[in-house]
Amino acid sequence: MIYLDANATTPVDPAVLEAMLPYLREHYANPSASYAAGRRVRRAVEQARTQVAALLGARPAEITFTSGGTESINAVHASVRALWPERPELIITGTEHAAVLESARRWQAQGGQVTTAPVHPDGRVDLGALHSLLRPGITGLVSIMWANNETGVIAPMHEIAAMAHAAGALVHTDAVQAAGKISLDVRTTPVDFLSLSGHKMHAPKGTGALYVSQRVRFEPLLVGGGQENERRGGTENVPGIIALGKAAELAAQHLADGTKARIKALRDRFEHLIHAAVPEMRIHGSPAHRLHTTTSLCLPETDAAGMLILLDQAGIACSAGSACHAGALHASHVLEAMDVSARDAACTLRFSFNRFNTKSDVESAAHAVIESAHKIREAQGCGLAVISH
Ligand code: PLP
Repeated sequence: MIYLDANATTPVDPAVLEAMLPYLREHYANPSASYAAGRRVRRAVEQARTQVAALLGARPAEITFTSGGTESINAVHASVRALWPERPELIITGTEHAAVLESARRWQAQGGQVTTAPVHPDGRVDLGALHSLLRPGITGLVSIMWANNETGVIAPMHEIAAMAHAAGALVHTDAVQAAGKISLDVRTTPVDFLSLSGHKMHAPKGTGALYVSQRVRFEPLLVGGGQENERRGGTENVPGIIALGKAAELAAQHLADGTKARIKALRDRFEHLIHAAVPEMRIHGSPAHRLHTTTSLCLPETDAAGMLILLDQAGIACSAGSACHAGALHASHVLEAMDVSARDAACTLRFSFNRFNTKSDVESAAHAVIESAHKIREAQGCGLAVISH
């Protein structure tokens, strides 16, 4: 398999697995236990908290471990709604992940108001429109993703945070796709809440974290034994926490070495090879504000559902630009919000890259894409040529 679906999930880094294994084997004590074995595990959990905090420029006390992005997002929305009922409005964009959209739906069902700020066709939020939508005294929370999972578009979080704060609103960002890929610093981009997920950064699934600025109050979603400083009840997923800490440490190292440039070169080579053969190819999302790991690619008149089948047969793992729910393809709400036609959305594929991909991976995959597009177009009899090289 050539794995080009890193935005769906990433392989666990062998060093992350190594770091967590002792906590599945010998260090199984409960971190709340007062004896030595428990205290040892507690120290490891606190070290992981420091590692995650360092990735974000946060203080360790501002980090709560959760089961992943979805839980972190739900927890923030529920907390703001509960603690600030007099500020009933939540502002999101139409390109948010389902975790935010569904949590927003619940916000509304519980009597709050939800407003969707428009995005430009390049996927970036319309800051002018956001500014005019913000209502001092009414808007309680602005929840906008830092980077989009389908297109990789990076939001102007600094401007969003400044604007929302000027209107007296709190700011949450779903940084699940941004964390570990681009530098995030909550000291220079002062969001109040930030959600991240381990399995998008080479830690196991079911791990994640929530940053809550020490400036703001927080009410836990899960109550119980008072773990995580009274912020998330339930015995800690210690191996998962250790893995997330190690993954954060490695991500910080890779942000500083040449890894980002290497992945970008692979992604650019992939796009270049396909473009040379299919000149009418289009890439969705702001070219200047796009994750170096993501390509949302439209091959006009080339049915993505058929492409997925052919690419799967060729051993290439990627996604359609449409969300797949229970096996059925639906038009992507992200592309729809960007004013991409339903026809182009149905011809869009997402390829997402990670640090374990190689040049030969992307070259083979590009050739498989070109080959498959040729077959699909022949079958459709659409007459568009694919130049073979
Ligand atoms: N937000 C974004 C942008 C995502 O891509 C995902 C995962 O697909 C999530 C949230 C949910 O994260 P998790 O799978 O950890 O619950």
